[in-house]
Amino acid sequence: MIVLVINSGSSSLKYQLFNMQDRSVMAKGICECIGTGGRMTHKRPGMENYTVEVPLPTHDDAIELLLKVLTDREYGVIKDISEIGAVGHRIAHGGEKYKKSAIIDSRAIKELEELNPINPLHGPPIIKGIKACLNRMPDTPQVGVFDTSYYSDLPDYRYIYPLPYELYTEKKIRRYGFHGTSHRYVAAQAARYMGRELSELKIITCHLGNGSSVTATAYGKAVDTSMGFTPQEGAVMGTRSGSIDPSIIPFLMKTDNLTPEQVEEIINKKSGLLGISGISNDAREVNNAADNGNYRAQLALKILGNSVKKLIGAYVAEMNGLDALVFTAGIGENDFVVRRLVCEEMDYLGIAIDEEKNRFTIKGKEGEISAPGARVRTFVIPTNEELMIALDTCALVR
Ligand code: ADP
Repeated sequence: MIVLVINSGSSSLKYQLFNMQDRSVMAKGICECIGTGGRMTHKRPGMENYTVEVPLPTHDDAIELLLKVLTDREYGVIKDISEIGAVGHRIAHGGEKYKKSAIIDSRAIKELEELNPINPLHGPPIIKGIKACLNRMPDTPQVGVFDTSYYSDLPDYRYIYPLPYELYTEKKIRRYGFHGTSHRYVAAQAARYMGRELSELKIITCHLGNGSSVTATAYGKAVDTSMGFTPQEGAVMGTRSGSIDPSIIPFLMKTDNLTPEQVEEIINKKSGLLGISGISNDAREVNNAADNGNYRAQLALKILGNSVKKLIGAYVAEMNGLDALVFTAGIGENDFVVRRLVCEEMDYLGIAIDEEKNRFTIKGKEGEISAPGARVRTFVIPTNEELMIALDTCALVR
């Protein structure tokens, strides 16, 4: 089966076309500047990229262009749209309803729309992407794969916040968790690497990218995770603060006369690596500055490393043990300094990494970086959320 995976954002639409027979990527790319301009970059393995600038006022226009390019004589990889057996959509938020990947029909779209108040940033563009696909491919099954559904088995005492209980029952304020598809994928890959069953392992996965989260998986199920009601909570991120004392927010609003939007801007867009370093949200630039002796860049990396270390400690305690620690996403896969900062002085917990292996892990490849004899095995595993979405889509449609 051929599966099209769509990841729809407010002004962009990323796609990958998979041949599920051998799980190969037939084409992938991105439509950018939707609503403000329009550009498409289309890649096919072993061939030159195709880039085109055309106005893309809406997501519907982006899907129309994508289907045109996929079936184009020169740049395409299929003859007809009907060759696409199903479309899998990355959906950030499935609320409490979607505990598993699901077929998306008009009723499901309505239910997703009802989640927009608690998912105002990511919800609307995803729904636009789904509707555009349904318009253009009405007979092709559409599947939703939810970032939150991996956390549907968290125990209540880990997803209920210590706030008035009515805020949960009436406003649905609870920990939902995000990045679930990535954590699910790399946890399974770690088990495979170890030649063990996921159902017999305790694993902590650190997805460290622009957005970062840490998840504890025990015996095949997520048992805790660092992102919460929104993807703001937890580890330090590129521009997001992660966990802070909540009283800082009303303090700032009162003392500086700030609106909720202005405080949101501070904690979402001006904090994290960027806010601390004053240099960049890009870990590469922060690393370069730190190498050149910049104090605030060094501090930013230390605060990031420590925020992840604390979460690992908490999850080892919650799981009463640990078999494997996994690093993934842009920083987790590439940044040996951050991995070292996270893992140093953790031998009490059985975590110890080999400095050489950590430094010279081949980028983009799976690798083990544990020190010889370490009780816990530590891995670098590239994430592949798109493949996970394609696999779920294929399984559901079949
Ligand atoms: P997103 O959350 O947007 O998917 P990614 O997983 O792509 O983010 O991660 C982006 C982060 O990964 C950026 O901070 C970037 O600096 C970092 N990164 C990417 N490549 C490297 C590298 N070679 N060394 C250090 N950091 C890297």
